[in-house]
Amino acid sequence: MRLFRARMRENSVALSDDTKKAASMPTLPEDADPRSSIIFEDDDGSSSVGSGATLPKSRFQRRAQMSSIDRNLDALGLAPHPDAHEELPRYELETIQMFGSLTGASLTWLELKQLGFKLDPQWKSTSQSMLESTVSSAFLVKLLEGSGLQRGDARLTDFYGKLRDLDALEVDRPLTLAVFDKLVAPCRDIIYLAISGDLSIPDFSAFGSTLEKIYSKINEIKSGANASYIPQLAQVNPEQFGISVTTVSGQHLSIGDSDVPFCIQSCSKPLSYLMALGEHGSAYVHRCVGTEPSGQRFNEMVLKDAPEPKQPSRRIPHNPMINAGAMMMCSMLSPKLTREERLEKVLDTWRALTAGAGPDPVGYDDATYQSESATADRNWCLAYMMKESGAFPPCFTSLSETLELYFQICSILCTSRGMSVMAATLANGGLNPITGERVFAADDVRRVLPLMLTCGMYDFSGQWAFDVGLPAKSGVGGCVFMVIPNVCGIAVWSPRLDPIGNSVRAVAVAQELCRTYALHNFEVFSGLSRHKVDLSKRRKNEESIKAIAAVLFAASHGEVRALRSHHIAGMDIYASDYDQRTALHIAAAAGHVDAVEYLVKTAPAADLEHIIGAKDRWGFTPLHEAENFDRSVIDKNGQAQRRSRVSIDDDAAERHGALSLPPHAPLASPLCTPSLGAPQP
Ligand code: GLN
Repeated sequence: MRLFRARMRENSVALSDDTKKAASMPTLPEDADPRSSIIFEDDDGSSSVGSGATLPKSRFQRRAQMSSIDRNLDALGLAPHPDAHEELPRYELETIQMFGSLTGASLTWLELKQLGFKLDPQWKSTSQSMLESTVSSAFLVKLLEGSGLQRGDARLTDFYGKLRDLDALEVDRPLTLAVFDKLVAPCRDIIYLAISGDLSIPDFSAFGSTLEKIYSKINEIKSGANASYIPQLAQVNPEQFGISVTTVSGQHLSIGDSDVPFCIQSCSKPLSYLMALGEHGSAYVHRCVGTEPSGQRFNEMVLKDAPEPKQPSRRIPHNPMINAGAMMMCSMLSPKLTREERLEKVLDTWRALTAGAGPDPVGYDDATYQSESATADRNWCLAYMMKESGAFPPCFTSLSETLELYFQICSILCTSRGMSVMAATLANGGLNPITGERVFAADDVRRVLPLMLTCGMYDFSGQWAFDVGLPAKSGVGGCVFMVIPNVCGIAVWSPRLDPIGNSVRAVAVAQELCRTYALHNFEVFSGLSRHKVDLSKRRKNEESIKAIAAVLFAASHGEVRALRSHHIAGMDIYASDYDQRTALHIAAAAGHVDAVEYLVKTAPAADLEHIIGAKDRWGFTPLHEAENFDRSVIDKNGQAQRRSRVSIDDDAAERHGALSLPPHAPLASPLCTPSLGAPQP
């Protein structure tokens, strides 16, 4: 039984008890030998298969190769009776769990019996039969959309297609278990994560409303101006503003002008660097580009010394995030192909990076290319400097091929929706979270992120690292994208730039987000004293529940040092749990005088009375606990007494006792107070 419990814990998902019971319906593949399942021994040696279902005592052998369903049964500590016959349709375990969770129904005792389980007659499920239950299609769609899974999500195309065929998309229809099973079959994993609250940002709707508020606030900002040195960029409507977020489990949220294509400009730089790394490897690439912030403007005429024995005056670009470095990367992209082929290859990579969240967002604006190519003296100058300094790699072809490809790549179009999928692909270690396609190696993504953090925002990068602390890249087209490793990608687009060249609104959105969420890479906390919201936590109050549990644990063990440290870390050591029990209740009940003393002495004078008189769910105060357990007592001044039996001042007893003791309990003195025994309602 011990083993069974441990397994149950290991495999438990956030589903109701009913669902766990429901999950007991086994699914047997054609070739499965039910005898191969695992059974568990009770402490007394008898064997059992979960709540109430008992098997004969013989032990079955584990088959060398367990089928997946055997593993499922194993996980649940269930095994069908050897004579099990397959009368009922077979469903995947996850389907049963999901359907049970959505409907609150479970398999009935009779259904399990029909499946051949030997069941303890004592245990009869009273909940509604799963086979007679239905789930509302509208509810299901609302649940998926509420958790951030979009209708346009490539993984759900089949699911929504089938719902439409059943005319259950626009109209709310009841779905039986059999229909539900067919619907979810192609995307069971992702729907399972949504239903069990295990997607990357579990509280997606709360995140969405915070983002909406931030959008409206930042929309008021009108300062800055479009980039004008590239004529085409000056013509873009400066009022446009879009924010998009895609998580590594593919949840998506877009606000505002998120489907308007814009020029990615310098946002292309980290990706060109990744493409060069993929093609040539890190050593080859970094012979020609550094990893240092330049501390200068993105198009500054400056290079970094990189002497080599044969070229002592060799100089290379500081990093791949500034113009010189990005041109260097372009020189390495498939140099043997024609320029059209090279651009097409880059566009294909961009399509792979951004695919999955709706129609292809990638485009190319030849007019911008032409307008930049015609006004690019500065970039030409930088390129000549690099050539003169011996910076280019052996695969280098010509300056014009390199520069024209660079301008073309800067003229790629994308939307903030697409940019957020690209950023999520980086957050996901180079694997597009929606299509599941690997675009870059995880090691290379690990290389680009620190460069984005230290060099991604031009000569604002230091301030950005200080304020926001996230890898990000900015472009003069007005986009800034950010990567929160293992959580999500965020893209903000609005064309007006500050004097440094970063979108004013995008920087403001990032700063605003950091006020609410613990996004900064170096956000530190003392113990569990977290004041900002952690995006990937399941529930808003998860942190505070953990903190209370830690405080109560310390109290139950009389660990004054731990209580003190929690207090210094900023936790509320007087908070109560679900049963309204406080650390003081628990320390008093367990007779930990030192802990009681610490808690009482540390309490703010104004709150002391309230703290000592706090009633738990059963109406008991810490004072009662002290009396009841006859180990420590708090006197009327709130002092813990290191005595086992102390008479308590009548006033104090009345003051606190009258508030909470059941009327029949004598109050005069703990010496004559009978044990209160088990909590009374
Ligand atoms: N194409 C632009 C240039 O080379 C890109 C600059 C930018 O976005 N910072 O100047």
